[in-house]
Amino acid sequence: MLVTMKEILDHANKGYYGVPAPNVGGEREARAAIEAAEELNSPIIIDVGYSAHPDLVFFGKYLTVLANQSTVPVAINLDHGGHASVALLRDPITALRAGFTSIMVDRSMFPYEQNLAMVKEIVPIAHAVGVSVEAELGHVGSGEDVTGTSILTDPAEAVDYIQQTGIDCLAVSIGSAHGAYAKNIIPHIDFERLAEIKKVTNEFPLVMHGGSGTGDENLHRACHEGINKVNICNELLFYAGKAVQAADLTGNGAYAIWDILVNAWKDRLKFQIENFGSAGQAWETKPIGVSSFNQATMAE
Ligand SMILES: [Zn+2]
Repeated sequence: MLVTMKEILDHANKGYYGVPAPNVGGEREARAAIEAAEELNSPIIIDVGYSAHPDLVFFGKYLTVLANQSTVPVAINLDHGGHASVALLRDPITALRAGFTSIMVDRSMFPYEQNLAMVKEIVPIAHAVGVSVEAELGHVGSGEDVTGTSILTDPAEAVDYIQQTGIDCLAVSIGSAHGAYAKNIIPHIDFERLAEIKKVTNEFPLVMHGGSGTGDENLHRACHEGINKVNICNELLFYAGKAVQAADLTGNGAYAIWDILVNAWKDRLKFQIENFGSAGQAWETKPIGVSSFNQATMAE
């Protein structure tokens, strides 16, 4: 059942577990992600990058239909939500039109005051139509250059940021980074910082970006010590690619290519659902009813 990301993260926060947020770019992965969640009775967050699909409105509508057919709680989240200046407002607003139940408004590339002001502007608009908002403080950089591109989250600043913006969850920078890590190193995760942020923010729902390659033990621990959503993309694709490389695609073997890709992607996602403590955590969701999604959520 389609739900807001806030509903999922509040549940995960109370239960001290993490929900995977795989990046999807099309029907095959979206369906596989929801199937994986159903098979393990887990909630799931479908992350869609702002450039992952050429038509965000079409894809969003497709995902809402799929989510509403599901037996487990499913949220649809716009990942990052506009990097280029022209897309700062366009992408989040398009996602609202498309029926996403959450938008990430990432302005972490700007100085603190600007980040704060821009996120503050969008939160009431999203909340008016029952959509959750994720934002980022500090900056999660690239795995190719973790120390050069990341800025760790300041716990005291996080308290002020959450209070002033009214966001529903906060992406924190505690050592992970986007994409594959240079030389496949396992990054150092600053668990002391995570504990401090969780404490001073009064147990606010927290998000980790750059879950891929961050180390299964690190992710397991992070999810049990305050991270409630983990974004994961590169790692699932890596496993899918490895499976295709190992397959015999000669002759009619080529027909199996999509199944090989998707099954390997899904198997790795299922591993992380278990690893994050999300398996078995799904709850019974109430039907939204016959009115449109936005009307129903506005009445909540
Ligand atoms: Zn990210």
